[in-house]
Amino acid sequence: MTVTVRVPAKVNVQLAVGAARADGFHDLANVFLAVGLYDEITVTPADTLRVTCAGPDADKVPLDRTNLAARAALALAERYGRAPDVHIHIAKDIPVAGGMAGGSADGAGALLACDALWGTRASRDELLDICAELGSDVPFSLVGGAALGTGRGEKLTALDVGGTFHWVFAFAQRGLSTPAVFREFDRLGEDTDIPEPVASQPLIDALAKGDPDALAATVTNDLQPAALSLFPELADTLAAGRAAGALAALVSGSGPTTAFLTRDADSATQVAAALHASGTCRSVRTATGPAQGATVG
Ligand code: ATP
Repeated sequence: MTVTVRVPAKVNVQLAVGAARADGFHDLANVFLAVGLYDEITVTPADTLRVTCAGPDADKVPLDRTNLAARAALALAERYGRAPDVHIHIAKDIPVAGGMAGGSADGAGALLACDALWGTRASRDELLDICAELGSDVPFSLVGGAALGTGRGEKLTALDVGGTFHWVFAFAQRGLSTPAVFREFDRLGEDTDIPEPVASQPLIDALAKGDPDALAATVTNDLQPAALSLFPELADTLAAGRAAGALAALVSGSGPTTAFLTRDADSATQVAAALHASGTCRSVRTATGPAQGATVG
């Protein structure tokens, strides 16, 4: 028997970051939108836990027990007192260390796939609990759509989306480590008073209306200055997308993927072509959001 689960990437349309807490984490007000770029996780019974990965970034994915998909299988097996005897294959389309929650997608996907393969029938809440233990972005990968994440980002409230948004994503030549970007955020903010992160109501309204102009006017990413400080060339990619007519250009999460909101599918195709021609990125993809969360295929 084999189970395959498809899991979307995400873009943060709002990422408000508070000051570092005593435990080193940051409080966030994080509006996630799932977008139609997917990893596919396939699980098959095996003698022992094994992870394989295919795709353009496969060589950057750890295949040992630090892989989030392996950690998800181990967490579920432990909870149900069974052996994690499964082969997990990741067909990877989401860029690695790209700020699009690719590892989190694989964690959520492996969890749902193993639950189906093993017949553990964990409740949705139990699955969400395990996701939150695996990482701040993992619960959202399970639920998809659009949601506000508070706390470290893992406490989710679903948000209404009144239409389809058209995006272009430019993948960068190298990755950025999320912890390094947060450290840079702390360094840049050392002598400033960082306000409590608060969700933007105009942005939530723009999502609910499905209005790309209103969403473009309200998207923000507090990690963008830190990502640009560590990866200054991203400014050229952002400028190229803006010049090509994107309604908004921003760094996706901790970067270095850059995200461009466009008015419609035609405009997305034009912006994608211009970004490709600009030579400021490794590759370019279009995708729409919202996308469904992890789904057994
Ligand atoms: P986020 O947007 O949640 O901050 P990201 O998209 O920037 O994350 P990931 O692709 O999730 O970054 O990977 C970050 C690091 O996690 C990788 O460099 C890799 O070492 C490790 N990792 C663990 N499991 C996976 C996985 N299944 N896929 C990719 N990377 C993984």
